[in-house]
Amino acid sequence: MPSLLFKCIPFIHPKPHPSPLSLVTAMSTKTKTRLRGVVFDMDGTLTVPVIDFSSMYKAVLGETEYRRIRQENPSGIDILHLIESWSPDEQRKANEIILDFERLGRERLQIMPGAAELCGFLDSKKIRFATECVLAWSIREVMIWSDRRGLITRNVKEAVDLYHQRFEIVFSPALSREFRPYKPDPAPLLHICSTWDVQPNEVMMVGDSLKDDVACGKRAGAFTCLLDEKGRYCSADFTELDLEPDFKVASLAEVHSLLETTFDLMP
Ligand SMILES: [Mg+2]
Repeated sequence: MPSLLFKCIPFIHPKPHPSPLSLVTAMSTKTKTRLRGVVFDMDGTLTVPVIDFSSMYKAVLGETEYRRIRQENPSGIDILHLIESWSPDEQRKANEIILDFERLGRERLQIMPGAAELCGFLDSKKIRFATECVLAWSIREVMIWSDRRGLITRNVKEAVDLYHQRFEIVFSPALSREFRPYKPDPAPLLHICSTWDVQPNEVMMVGDSLKDDVACGKRAGAFTCLLDEKGRYCSADFTELDLEPDFKVASLAEVHSLLETTFDLMP
């Protein structure tokens, strides 16, 4: 997938987005593409990746079954979807293991470098910041708040609440896996667009998972930006997914640059 080797380069995008030619033309004449909202994944995007997903899958599936399923799905295992067909007792045990790994992840929670700066930039585009801050968080005088950015995670609400409280950066709506169906289904992203009263092609989905975040964004008809810090998506394992993000970046600082140079952020 040679196009994934590029960073911050707009890829071919299906309608209703601007064609590649029109996008390039727009950029060359400094007419930027309108964007009214940004939706982020949480784990590995807004936070430093700390959940050991491979170990989690092995603990849930057992070593042998893990290897078998991994071989059949080299681009990644959808553990939540997989256990849905299990018996209630098996599901309960699997969920306990998953929750244990997620609990450990919360104990090690770290904000992703560039997240606060990026959210500050998004907030700088919106005048209503202070009023909403006071209304929503009366006990906190300084809380970064915006309805310009949303969050969709397959983690639990408790993890989202912890992120909001610890880093004092609030996403709204913030949909956790209690919202069904979860990513890669487009439903949570379409729900956010509906809440914001914007069209999906006026929104960008940013995340570190091709099969969850980019798939969710593309199915909804939004712009997609894949965060690939370590170049893992250059592997041939991902070609079978046939998912091409509109943009690929290696850091949130690059998302910031992308938004500034390519898009016109509007309320
Ligand atoms: Mg992620």
